[in-house]
Amino acid sequence: MSDALRFTLDGRVVLARDGETVLDVATREGTYIPTLCFDPRLAPFGACRACLVGVQGARGPVAACTTPVREGMVVDTRDPVAFRVGRGVVELVLSDFPEAALARDDDRGELRAVARHFGLEASRWQGARHADAPDDRHPYLKLKLDECIVCGRCVRACDEIQGTFALTYTGRGFETRIAPGIGQGFTDSACVSCGACASACPTGAIDEAPFREAARVDRVVGTTCGYCGVGCRLDIAVRDERIVSSEPALDGPSNHGHTCLKGRFAHGFVLSPERLTHPLIREGDGFRKASWDEALTLVATRLLAIRDAHGPDAIAALSSSRGTNEDNYAMQKLLRAVIGTHNVDNCSRVCHSPSSAGLIRSLGHSGGTNSYDDIEGARALLIAGANATEGHPVLGARLKQRVLAGAKLVVIDPRRVELARYADVFLQLRPGTNVAVFHGLAHVVMRDGLFDKDFLAARVDDVDTYRAFLADYSPARVEEISGVPAHLLERAAHLYGEHAPAGIYYGLGVTEQSQGVAGVRALVNLATITGNLGRDGAGVNPLRGQNNVQGGSDMGALPTTLTMYQPVTDAAVRARFEARWGVTLKAERGLMIPEMFDAAIAGKLKAMYAFGEDIAQTDPNTGHVVKALRALEFFVVQELFLSETAKLAHVVLPGASFLEKEGTFTNAERRIQKVNPVVAPPGEARTDFEIILDLAARMGRPLGFATPAEAMAEVASLTPALAGVSHERLGRKGLQWPVPEVTHPGTTVLYRERFETASGRAQLARTPWQPPGEAADEMFPMILVTGRQLAHYNAGTMTRHTGNAVLHPTDCVEVNPQDAEFLGIAEGDEVEVASRRGSVRTFAHLTDRSACGEVFLSFHFPEVLTNLLTSGNSDAYTRCPEYKISAVRVTKVADGAGRMPAWNPGIHPGA
Ligand code: SF4
Repeated sequence: MSDALRFTLDGRVVLARDGETVLDVATREGTYIPTLCFDPRLAPFGACRACLVGVQGARGPVAACTTPVREGMVVDTRDPVAFRVGRGVVELVLSDFPEAALARDDDRGELRAVARHFGLEASRWQGARHADAPDDRHPYLKLKLDECIVCGRCVRACDEIQGTFALTYTGRGFETRIAPGIGQGFTDSACVSCGACASACPTGAIDEAPFREAARVDRVVGTTCGYCGVGCRLDIAVRDERIVSSEPALDGPSNHGHTCLKGRFAHGFVLSPERLTHPLIREGDGFRKASWDEALTLVATRLLAIRDAHGPDAIAALSSSRGTNEDNYAMQKLLRAVIGTHNVDNCSRVCHSPSSAGLIRSLGHSGGTNSYDDIEGARALLIAGANATEGHPVLGARLKQRVLAGAKLVVIDPRRVELARYADVFLQLRPGTNVAVFHGLAHVVMRDGLFDKDFLAARVDDVDTYRAFLADYSPARVEEISGVPAHLLERAAHLYGEHAPAGIYYGLGVTEQSQGVAGVRALVNLATITGNLGRDGAGVNPLRGQNNVQGGSDMGALPTTLTMYQPVTDAAVRARFEARWGVTLKAERGLMIPEMFDAAIAGKLKAMYAFGEDIAQTDPNTGHVVKALRALEFFVVQELFLSETAKLAHVVLPGASFLEKEGTFTNAERRIQKVNPVVAPPGEARTDFEIILDLAARMGRPLGFATPAEAMAEVASLTPALAGVSHERLGRKGLQWPVPEVTHPGTTVLYRERFETASGRAQLARTPWQPPGEAADEMFPMILVTGRQLAHYNAGTMTRHTGNAVLHPTDCVEVNPQDAEFLGIAEGDEVEVASRRGSVRTFAHLTDRSACGEVFLSFHFPEVLTNLLTSGNSDAYTRCPEYKISAVRVTKVADGAGRMPAWNPGIHPGA
């Protein structure tokens, strides 16, 4: 250990680092010191005095959690005075703690462990006791204040981990209580239901219902969350083959002991009675149950017959960004090696394909340049088109904490998202003007000398041409285009340009535009000219949407590339795969998702296999999608529930969720992490990997691997950037690609030495701003922006079957109060939202989060079917849809009888 201090702990000489506390070192050395107010995720508090120890030469016992180690210090954790005082303190705590709760035999009570340490089963002191009624209104969080010892861990967890400040202290002395807001419960407070308070509580006063009901556990399985691209590590407790709790892993490399309400609580869908439990075959307008043998034989026979009659390109598959890497590798191999087509795509097409294309063209790799931990080293943060505290809540909380700790923040978004409240500068641009605003920022950086001259000279091509190109993007012109005041644009450029290292984080508000690739590349330009690449605390980082949208594409579930973006048009690449797979691969790329729909309607595409994606709900212009799916001769869907898409299938195959399968996910910081089965799939449902392997074998060409680990070994053998990856190496921390050798530790920051472009230098894109595909007009005078809400994920397939649906029961359209007044709409009114494609009914929520002339609608509920409204406009290069801009009109439904269901206000942070 470098810079080591030597001190004596219970008679042993031990080493410590400067800044460590006595408790830190004792814990590392395996010496138990009782604590109550301490939590390793929180700043030391030193309030409870349970951790008192003796220190030679000190006047009395000291708190181990707040006492830093000094050279030569002599510490005695068994000091009799410290023990006596600590015991007295704990006895006083017990004097107001219910005896029944102390006697309860469960795994939830740190207080019980502390009491045992001091040999206490009860308190000698008898006095007034609290007798608070439990608050059970929240679907997950239960409040039993008579078990609260006011240690403050929950309040500090809400402040220091989540940054929501929903919990507070009320009263004084004996009347001091913890409360989610004054006079409120969890369900009517600002609480975002992340559960940080419950995981911090040492007594179970704040606890989760299922855990309390079955507190003893049979096993705890470490795995990776299957909702968003943050990739939180979870420790999931199981009793009697049922999940009883999901705790954030303290050593989770991406979440550091935190989760949001999805990873933490939204596991109830596993036991939903609506889960698919056996294969289904269409019969008339409905389905009949079938055996696996019958269903898979039918699928194999029909696909082979269609291939033989119409050629392999008459078949296409939609692989799953929710599936594992190994599922995706197997699916693309099924299409390429068994069927013989490159017609395979995944939902990155409709979310982050512009990130992939843009990052590759500018820098070389299709991945975020840095790690989440770099947030803590950033002096400034620029967040564009991302509602991180709802879409990627754990990362959003980290961003918020960094800003609270002093980093500068620029937020660029048409909508006043929660993080905008924390911003030094909020650029509320008109939808569809990202590219102009990003070029405008670069204009100011160049004009005012905020660029990194040495970096540009050493590592960037064509700087002078780029500088000349920016002349068209003066702040005044950008103001005309975007509505962003010139002085705010200038201020934002200075904040970003003067505070290196500065990190850029962006989301679907940048990519889901008709200029998606141009937007990504314009953001990369900003990082490039300021030298914010190849260094800690900086970078350009896409917030990937679904849990494995990075990995699905990395595994080659794309019509243009094999694993890790190796082009199918490259003969050398094809030769390597052909040799390993024993097949000949086509030299031309396959169909992208929108092209698949067009080909189906044109009668060229005859069969489709959709796995884990509800395209009839989530893809744009849903009417067109449904028409395409109805036009197919044969349609197979592999799903958890009978989704809107599955209802259109000829065969439905019941698959497994992330809690029921093995493999790996790759998160948005390129970290490949292990996924482990927590429980078995329900009924006859099988893992997706097994289903695809079985089908390939029935089609006469087994895939050549039997387990996910073997599949990953094959990937490693064919993919230089993943050559050092294996399941055995992943452990609890995973590996961040590139991992070129088996001894390579993974790559936290890309491009430290060179860029992976042909010249080895960064490329500055010069794409002019163009107006979006659709504009408001007299018929459709408002612009609809779509996006996600905190409680749900994407199609809501899983979250709608959990208690999250209680917290957030429906999609509602956000309308600015000024617009609402003009339109005669009141809060909760039933309204119709119509575009050129169709109309939907929902309820109005009045908030100035949306600007005048703009409305916002999420797309989690099939009852609303938001994507009936969105257009077929897309990015020219990637075909990523322009979800973020649709011209609509909103009208109050005159005979609207429906009423907006109640929701938890915390579910809309910042609203
Ligand atoms: Fe973490 Fe995302 Fe899962 Fe929430 S949904 S627990 S932020 S991975």
